[in-house]
Amino acid sequence: MWVFEEELDDGRKLSDVINADHENVKYLPGIQLPTNVRAVPDLSDAVRNASIVVFVLPHQFLPSLLPRISSCLHRGAMAVSLVKGLDFDDEGPVLITDMIREGLGEDVSEVCVLMGANVADEMARDEFCEATLGCPDPEGAGAVVQQLFDCPTFRVEVTPDPIGVELCGALKNVVALAAGFCDGLDWGGNTKVGLGGKCVGWAIKTLLASPLTADNWDGLRGRALLWIAAIIRRGLEEMRLFCKLLHPSVRDMTFFESCGVADLITTCYGGRNRKCAETFARAGGAMGWDEIEKEELGGQHLQGPQTTSKLHKVLEQKKWLSRFPLFRSVYQIAYQGRPPATLVQDL
Ligand code: 13P
Repeated sequence: MWVFEEELDDGRKLSDVINADHENVKYLPGIQLPTNVRAVPDLSDAVRNASIVVFVLPHQFLPSLLPRISSCLHRGAMAVSLVKGLDFDDEGPVLITDMIREGLGEDVSEVCVLMGANVADEMARDEFCEATLGCPDPEGAGAVVQQLFDCPTFRVEVTPDPIGVELCGALKNVVALAAGFCDGLDWGGNTKVGLGGKCVGWAIKTLLASPLTADNWDGLRGRALLWIAAIIRRGLEEMRLFCKLLHPSVRDMTFFESCGVADLITTCYGGRNRKCAETFARAGGAMGWDEIEKEELGGQHLQGPQTTSKLHKVLEQKKWLSRFPLFRSVYQIAYQGRPPATLVQDL
């Protein structure tokens, strides 16, 4: 495992600590790593002669890393991307798998994507989850990569729709920002705890303004649930529309796989993008994304804001903005000072 070398507060190097204590004390504290996972700070050493190389990092780092990887791989190696992002060039959107394919050229025989409802610390605790492997050759490369990852607590299903799988993984982060804005406005919080603390508090406040009857109680409860349901439903709808417009071959079934609706719900409830978007809304414009990342994630980077900005460029370039009111609103809130409270105004 290539580890970007860092010096920890006690002066030790991160890779030395991982190799000695089998714990990534900075990014995954409290989880014991298997002893056969070895942290290697030199990228070329880490990938030398690899027959399968797995990419798990924010995609903004890829352009500088790919040339260093390309010359070291075993010829005909396979690549697996777990990167949930999207890029953009003068011609339009660029899939991360295409970026990897281009960067590695003939050194690589197949590039697959593995996406799903996979919150890292829960997986690290070996809690059950599923994932979707998108591979153009499900019986060949797909079967090999499936065998590599599949285990009783991490079930991998293969689909021949790598583009759909990849786009779902990237786009759900934009919807997760919308869900986080809801939480920051105390909309999502109400709905997520159902009839628990915040919701009761909110309902009581509202009820003081109108007498309780069986009808309006149901109405209140329903409205709270509707907000977040609306964001997730609209989000899924815009994800699907975007995929279909860009790549008509994307399969409807893909949205029902783990990479689709399951990842969307998981991220809207438990992901880092959601959490940081909540902070963004609570800060009322006083904190930028870099500052929030530093404060909330201790050195990790989000994919949601970058993807939102790249996605907006695509929508603008293709003149599709009016067809994607949720994606457009998320961009305007994240980057143009639009108040988060207007999130649902255009829906
Ligand atoms: P973030 O934690 O980056 O928001 O995403 C979580 C995720 O992708 C769960 O599948």
